[in-house]
Amino acid sequence: MENSNHFGKVYLIGAGPGDPGLLTVRGKSILEKADVVVYDRLVSPGVLSLCNPKAKMVDVGKMPTHHKVKQYEINKLLVKFAVEMPGATVARLKGGDPFVFGRGGEEALELVAAGVEFEVVPGVTSAIAVPAYAGIPVSHRGIATSFHIITGHEKEKSVVDPIAALQGDCHYGAEGDRIQCNLSLDFETLAKCQGTLIFLMGIANMDFIAHRLIECGKDPKTLLAFIEKGTTPNQRTVMATLESAGETIVRENVTAPAITIMGGVVELGKTLAWKKNLPLSGKRLVVTRAAKQSSGITARLTALGAEVIETPMIETRDVFPCCHAGLRSGISNSSENKVAEPVEFEDLKNFDILAFTSTNGVECFFKQLFAAGYDVRVLAGKKIASVGKITEKKLLEYGIRCDYVPEDHTGEGLGLLLQKVVGDESRILLLQGNLADDTLLKLLPKATRWIVYETLPIAELPDWKREAIASADAVVFASSSAVENFSSIVSTHSENASRLSFCIGRMTEASAKKHGFETVTSDETTMDSLVKKIVEYYTMGENA
Ligand code: SAH
Repeated sequence: MENSNHFGKVYLIGAGPGDPGLLTVRGKSILEKADVVVYDRLVSPGVLSLCNPKAKMVDVGKMPTHHKVKQYEINKLLVKFAVEMPGATVARLKGGDPFVFGRGGEEALELVAAGVEFEVVPGVTSAIAVPAYAGIPVSHRGIATSFHIITGHEKEKSVVDPIAALQGDCHYGAEGDRIQCNLSLDFETLAKCQGTLIFLMGIANMDFIAHRLIECGKDPKTLLAFIEKGTTPNQRTVMATLESAGETIVRENVTAPAITIMGGVVELGKTLAWKKNLPLSGKRLVVTRAAKQSSGITARLTALGAEVIETPMIETRDVFPCCHAGLRSGISNSSENKVAEPVEFEDLKNFDILAFTSTNGVECFFKQLFAAGYDVRVLAGKKIASVGKITEKKLLEYGIRCDYVPEDHTGEGLGLLLQKVVGDESRILLLQGNLADDTLLKLLPKATRWIVYETLPIAELPDWKREAIASADAVVFASSSAVENFSSIVSTHSENASRLSFCIGRMTEASAKKHGFETVTSDETTMDSLVKKIVEYYTMGENA
């Protein structure tokens, strides 16, 4: 266990500016095992998709006009989760970097005060990454030798006393509040800076900021760029000068989140804007997939500039307790199904060989074995078989070495191997999921099968996922069953979702049509052909 403390541990994680590819490796590994994820408005759905699907997701996002959850409440919430969940991994996921105008410091102070262990996982800050995605380097030889990151919005009380905050005495401002402009920035000094000025949270006050800078001597012709929703499919760059800043914001309706970057480097953005030139830039695509197995298509679409929302269509669940097989149809309703007969781990003594056909099977078997009060000693003297290398590796994590692994990593390979190496009298136990086919049982007719986990269609999508799907440009279907599953979950939810679909081959197309989708279909039933079609559609076909 990573946590020596008797509380849970809180990780203040920077989610980066939007593009999930900009989340750090460390951040991702914690999110994958998080028990709770407390996240902000600026965290993108692509990053949320990377979180442990079983984690409790808590949205404390603040909308510009009304505060969903106040900062002192967030602080209290983090402490509460850590205290109430010993050993848990509590992820506090914040846009950009948690310590760059992210109030991560305030949260950390609160955790220290409560004796809760924490770690900071820095993130890629929007202050630098958003200009980079717009092709604007924050420093450039001969143009800018420094850059300065400035808040364009301050809270009404500039000093936060965590105790006062805890008692609810503090009134916090938020981005977009237009009530008052009480910026205490040193405009004299800022105006003298030769370096690049980068304002965060500054859109609402930019007219004022620009005027003050000009008043203090900054050249009114200084170039600036507003970059809205940087690194997301909706990234937009609007250029202006210091003197036209305020009016440009109104005319172009620049909205938060946006950063303002000022200085000579902005000129480079006219030549270096690489992101918007990618063929799928600006497109948000939904890709359906079976839980845990990530499809290569996501990586390929992302590389072409699309934002991909991966939507698992199935989930696996432990069958508690394990059941005897033969009741497959009943298993999926196991909560109501009283017929499925639970196994007795005591019966393990009746078997000579245990065969595992998936990592899920291994995990669920041991989880339940331990929960029933046993340990690995009940496997002493038994032979262990695995369908392939990945399952073999998983068994090793439990201290178990495999005796039999087929060359060809399939159920059939395993069945044939066991037929060959074990005597007719060997008593074989297969530990499988409810959807495992009968290949092994056909090859090993005397074997017994226990169901240790079940695979079910996803019943419900979380709100953030529904919203992401509703705002997507299209859905990508790689099979008819993906269309069927997707339609059964999504159609009832989001009437305003895009009805455009990219389909692999004619069968998938037919299913998508049946469910009311417009279809664009690949010429061949390959991923290559599907990706090619999507690019063609957006680069030439869309307006043709
Ligand atoms: N901790 C964050 C900043 C939080 S303050 C970071 O390191 O990036 C919130 C401000 O960040 C927004 O008002 C906006 O100015 C900026 N911002 C965050 N994400 C952004 C994005 N994707 N595009 C443009 N600006 C962004």
